[in-house]
Amino acid sequence: MVGTTGQSLMLEVQKQVSLQALNSFGFSSIADSYTEITEPSQLPLLIDYCQAHKLPWLLLGGGSNLVLSAHVPGVVALIKLQGVDITSLEPPYVRVRVAAGEPWHETVSWLLSQGYYGLENLALIPGAVGAAPVQNIGAYGVELKDRVTGVDVYDTLQGQFTRLSSAECQFNYRDSLFKSVEPGRYIITAVEFELFTNPDHLVLNYQALQKTCEVLAGSQVITPRHVFDAVCQLRRNKLPDPAMLGNAGSFFKNPWVSQAKYQILRQNFTDLVAYPDAGGYKLAAGWLIEACGWKGKHYEKVGVYAKQSLVLVNYGGGDREQIESLATQISDSVHAVFGIWLEPEPRYYP
Ligand SMILES: Cc1cc2nc3c(=O)[nH]c(=O)nc-3n(C[C@H](O)[C@H](O)[C@H](O)COP(=O)(O)OP(=O)(O)OC[C@H]3O[C@@H](n4cnc5c(N)ncnc54)[C@H](O)[C@@H]3O)c2cc1C
Repeated sequence: MVGTTGQSLMLEVQKQVSLQALNSFGFSSIADSYTEITEPSQLPLLIDYCQAHKLPWLLLGGGSNLVLSAHVPGVVALIKLQGVDITSLEPPYVRVRVAAGEPWHETVSWLLSQGYYGLENLALIPGAVGAAPVQNIGAYGVELKDRVTGVDVYDTLQGQFTRLSSAECQFNYRDSLFKSVEPGRYIITAVEFELFTNPDHLVLNYQALQKTCEVLAGSQVITPRHVFDAVCQLRRNKLPDPAMLGNAGSFFKNPWVSQAKYQILRQNFTDLVAYPDAGGYKLAAGWLIEACGWKGKHYEKVGVYAKQSLVLVNYGGGDREQIESLATQISDSVHAVFGIWLEPEPRYYP
């Protein structure tokens, strides 16, 4: 137990804890030290403890965007902060503040059941609410940043709790202040969303989503509930369930190329999958990987998912070294054929 004298506030630190059930690859991994954060007020204690012992710390949500080594030094802190508050209700908008430890999918589902709409395109993404801003999660035409008004954090540099506006979070495609600008500085304690109280703000840009919604709705008008159900259906068909086959979702970001680069590629690869983005084009990383012949390939105990080349999987007994080696081989071959480097989405730790 680590505590502050005269206070009941405690931090229970356990030694040599297995993280195998706490990472979606299911890699065998042992943390030197492990603790669970159930109150924001434990965070200063955690940081003081780590700094006093010169230990690194790793914040853990659902472990679905991490590639863990067999040995994790320092302290792993599982964020278990709970609670949902309606901070304002002024139709057609509602603001909801959700604590970082709440599970993402269940939160989306609960908000929908309350008649608060806008997150249904992000259904079934694994993990916790507190990790969602880190890589600005996105799916089916909606990104977290489209719905966030503010993120409550503990600033480990200043030693204080504060709120960052959406602009201050510097959200970008699968990126944010928390991931690449100042990684490790902020511990997210809660996220505030602005959602809709009427059901007519549907985002149906993806053809497959629109079609599935039409089938589900039949002769009725498409509602957010149809979108939620359609997204779940599409994802279940496309992505492996980490409970059955270890994975971290899309392993690589879709790379951006300039107009000029796109035109050259298009001349050589007429079926290249790309969509206009920020003055250039985003290329479908899954298509690039598949074009290099990787779909369904096995490498030692890991491999490329047979139904979706963007997903790397652990067939059982795989580890960080195998995934890293496979990812490097894939990236090298995509570079050799297309002249583009792929960037991994999950974080390797340490
Ligand atoms: C099957 C599958 C499908 C997926 N689909 C998508 C998708 O469609 N779109 C998408 O964007 N992602 C997707 N992902 C990736 C992943 O689910 C998301 O990135 C998710 O937000 C990670 O949440 P987590 O709680 O598991 O984070 P973790 O893996 O636990 O942590 C991820 C990072 O966030 C940091 N972190 C965790 N909690 C906090 C906190 N409270 N404060 C500060 N930092 C913190 C961690 O230290 C780590 O660096 C998918 C993953 C899987 C396995």
